[in-house]
Amino acid sequence: MLLGHPVAHSLSPRFQSAALRAAGLDVAYTALDVTADALKETVRQLIADGAAGNVTVPHKANVVRLCDRLTPVAERVGAVNTFWVDGQNLVGDNTDVGGFAAACHSPVASGGRVAVLGAGGAAAAVLAAIAEWPGVKVRVWNRGAERARVLAGRFGAQAVATVEEALDRSSLVVNATSIGLDGVSQPIDVARLPQGADVIDLVYGPNETPWVRAARAAGHRAMDGLAMLIEQGALAFERWFGMAPDRDAMWRAAAPDRNRFTSIK
Ligand code: NAP
Repeated sequence: MLLGHPVAHSLSPRFQSAALRAAGLDVAYTALDVTADALKETVRQLIADGAAGNVTVPHKANVVRLCDRLTPVAERVGAVNTFWVDGQNLVGDNTDVGGFAAACHSPVASGGRVAVLGAGGAAAAVLAAIAEWPGVKVRVWNRGAERARVLAGRFGAQAVATVEEALDRSSLVVNATSIGLDGVSQPIDVARLPQGADVIDLVYGPNETPWVRAARAAGHRAMDGLAMLIEQGALAFERWFGMAPDRDAMWRAAAPDRNRFTSIK
């Protein structure tokens, strides 16, 4: 089950149902549109039912407070995207971190620099993943400077006042803002990207995103957020059932017209 508001657009029911079918599990994965007012009561009912599932916008931070136990990574990020019930206890985890790490096959070498645009929940997951890459320096730019300062401080990164400072000599640029969800806008003009920088857009779409397409056309390696989305879902499946899902089935269900790829190209 997926808790969010809104959730109708989500791909998760599609690819999680495909994984369940492929595993021969007679379990339904459905999306539940829950308003903030109804979240506490809904979670109470899910605990009584022994349910498991995912959490999406805008509830990832609020579910933290409703959990009896958090995994260390959920604690570090301050957000829950995956939950299950252990006895009478609600356990909260965060597989966005592992999802980003798995999707991003080519971590930056020691001494390298990463620019993260955005300072919301997705940026926190990215910073938690990159914190495991030794010797990598991360600069965070956000429209709201205070949010960038607080987030960067939590992960030993540097908050910067301008996009230029974030981009300077970066070999990886990550869009963790919601710019691009409209299928048109781009977080920054690709002409501003450092030469040779790789690009990861956490936003995703059926035909990738305008920013990914523009970056690739300008000679950069780039990927959108679909691989991260599917990997976070695959890791959640592993938590719930103790076995790996059929990732090919998940990719076919999520994006039938796209080749599966899990590295920047
Ligand atoms: P969030 O907590 O609401 O944060 C949104 C971020 O976008 C904030 O940094 C916000 O800046 C920035 N932003 C929004 N509109 C902007 C604008 N017009 N100009 C500049 N900055 C703007 O959301 P989130 O959970 O972090 O998600 C961010 C994006 O990541 C979403 O598009 C989401 O779909 C995507 N995501 C993808 C995956 C995946 O698996 N691929 C997983 C999680 C999230 P302010 O702080 O200044 O408002």
